[in-house]
Amino acid sequence: MNCPFCGNHDSRVIDSRDVNDGIRRRRQCLSCNSRFTTYERLQPASLFVIKKDQRREEFNKDKLLTGLRKACEKRPLPTGIVDKMGDDIEAELYQQGRAEIPSAVIGDMVMERLKNLDYIAYIRFASVYRDFTDITALKREIDTLVSDETVTPSPTSQLPLLPAEELGTVTKRHKRSLR
Ligand SMILES: [Zn+2]
Repeated sequence: MNCPFCGNHDSRVIDSRDVNDGIRRRRQCLSCNSRFTTYERLQPASLFVIKKDQRREEFNKDKLLTGLRKACEKRPLPTGIVDKMGDDIEAELYQQGRAEIPSAVIGDMVMERLKNLDYIAYIRFASVYRDFTDITALKREIDTLVSDETVTPSPTSQLPLLPAEELGTVTKRHKRSLR
């Protein structure tokens, strides 16, 4: 740490205290006796996500939150639950202490949480994440949910499993195929 006044790199610490997110140190230059302040902060280790196509991308919490918000849009969920889920997942990822993590692991963490939270949010997320190509695959996923007795807080209030507009599309498609 060079002195900002004379450039000398030797200084002594004359005061040190904890501040919100780090340590503030008051220093005195050993050459010109000028005083200056330094801050020390913890640098979070960077985490890389390995995507399906093997590309690496730095973990981006905003992206995670965007996906969660989209899935939970207009669902009757407690305020702040999406941010909390984002925080929890981020903390869990960093706690694993790995430099790289497959995107599928993050996807599964989200799925697990949404499954216990809200069926529709879960299905919405799953339909993007699992890349459902046809309605049969989606129906199969819904069936496993309905038959899963460990997560049936109130099945009637959760039905229908698809938002109205999606049901509309299905019906339209169905009608078209009948022609
Ligand atoms: Zn100096």
